Amino acid sequence: MAATTTLSTHKLINLVTTHYPNLTFTAGDYFAWQPETNTITYQIDDPSFEARLLHEIGHSILGHTGYDRDISLIGMERDAWQIAQSELAPLCNATITSDHIEDDMDTYRDWLHSRSTCPTCSANGIQKTRTAYACISCNATWRVNEARRCALRRYQTT
Ligand SMILES: [Zn+2]
Ligand SMILES: [Zn+2]
Repeated sequence: MAATTTLSTHKLINLVTTHYPNLTFTAGDYFAWQPETNTITYQIDDPSFEARLLHEIGHSILGHTGYDRDISLIGMERDAWQIAQSELAPLCNATITSDHIEDDMDTYRDWLHSRSTCPTCSANGIQKTRTAYACISCNATWRVNEARRCALRRYQTT
């Protein structure tokens, strides 16, 4: 049977508020985990509301506060999905499909690919600093900005 996960968003918010009293849940324009205030922002109209909400809780449980290299972010996103799917979804009687996870991870892979591709020769570059890449093939260097909007991505570890 399709569409078996029909928990109302309201019910789910109540449920996670009860389960995670140390977290603050607040409506916003996009999903985000804000570690400095233990706050999870959610976008109420998101078609993958359940999955994304539990994903952000996953970041909080794992204590994610920031990342140094782009590749680390990919791992953190993967880990947050893992715990959301295996532990949080059963707890909340929700379902997270591999499509939810792969669709989201694809956006990170695309993001990483576009950042790491050498603008001069299209080889795959290596990240030198948080905002700079270098090409080992043609020695070009280029800077990248923080284009992703998830709050997690805004934090810098020095
Ligand atoms: Zn995430
Ligand atoms: Zn190059």
